[in-house]
Amino acid sequence: MLQTLYSVNDYKEELVYPAICKALDALSVPDDLRPGMKVAIKPNLVMAKSPVYPVTTHPVVIRCVARYLRSHGITDITLAESSGGLYNAEYMKSLYKTCGVASLEDVLHLNMDFTARTIPCREGFVNHSFHIITPILDADYVINIAKLKTHAMTGYSGGIKNLFGTIPGLEKPQMHYRFPDIEDFSRMLLELAQTVNPAVTIIDAIDAMEGNGPTGGTSHPLHLLLAARDFYTQDYFAAGLMKLDPMEIVMIRQAVEVCLAKPGEITLTGDPIPEDLTPFQVPDTRRLDFSTSLPSFLRKPFTALLGSIFKSYPKLVPEKCVGCGKCAESCPAHIIKIKDHKAHFQKKGCISCFCCQEMCPMKAIEVRKAL
Ligand code: SF4
Ligand code: SF4
Repeated sequence: MLQTLYSVNDYKEELVYPAICKALDALSVPDDLRPGMKVAIKPNLVMAKSPVYPVTTHPVVIRCVARYLRSHGITDITLAESSGGLYNAEYMKSLYKTCGVASLEDVLHLNMDFTARTIPCREGFVNHSFHIITPILDADYVINIAKLKTHAMTGYSGGIKNLFGTIPGLEKPQMHYRFPDIEDFSRMLLELAQTVNPAVTIIDAIDAMEGNGPTGGTSHPLHLLLAARDFYTQDYFAAGLMKLDPMEIVMIRQAVEVCLAKPGEITLTGDPIPEDLTPFQVPDTRRLDFSTSLPSFLRKPFTALLGSIFKSYPKLVPEKCVGCGKCAESCPAHIIKIKDHKAHFQKKGCISCFCCQEMCPMKAIEVRKAL
């Protein structure tokens, strides 16, 4: 498995573009490209947030990938993303603007087709089909550009997790409801990743997020751009750069167990791994959830028996809440109500998915233990 890694100190096009060219050349991407090909770029635009924060894929990285494709004769390039909120023209237009990607229209099309189709999965998968946004399904070639982050529910977000944004809008919280257990949810993510199967995955780790990711954490720059074709092994590698134990991230451990990720086969090219990397702060959910440190075979029986006692739950910080309702909109269990311009959480029925925390623009949702 060829893993590229380049040091890039800032989101300046003159620094990012040479790194993208070297990475995609090393991965022999030009050999895949044909005239007239439709290419979809799948960024991480989880919420409407300015690119000065390490929440979304930086527009300069996307621009450089589109420039690279155009320099190889590809002009049909679509930015295809379903963010954490609604999936319609009004919501996405505003999100494109805030995330800084509206300025990319000179090099690519911003997707404005908000339909989705159902496609069957491979035999033997738990999921028989997935409902996936049309521009991804219509593409001949998908380039996945993830943002490196910690994540309240999954612990880590990179290439595999980024593909969850191919499920349209508020169907994503419904997937959390269908798969409340982290083992089942992670297996679903791996099945989805194999179904979408991007040709190349780039991870924007020039600035990355630690703490309460994927939206409420803080900046932890690595000044690195990673790219690989094998995004499962790349996630193993990237989690290591964050000083996380990749085998404690359920989706990565499962990928190793089924030989999708092959950590023993990494060949690194590009710049050396920086020597001064420091550990990423983990999300509060993981700090407080004792079950995440149990061996996988004990986790399910433990959570079935004692999970509700040791589980973590969302807790409102009332003075930060502006009553916008984004948490209620994304709660798959429908247990959040907005009254008197504040969110009110009913504890019964909470599946601890932290979609509410992910979508809160005010960082008004913290984590508390049941006891
Ligand atoms: S908790 Fe956050 S998302 Fe929910 S209503 Fe308050 S500010 Fe909005
Ligand atoms: S309240 Fe928050 S953590 Fe609980 S089910 Fe709803 S979105 Fe998930």
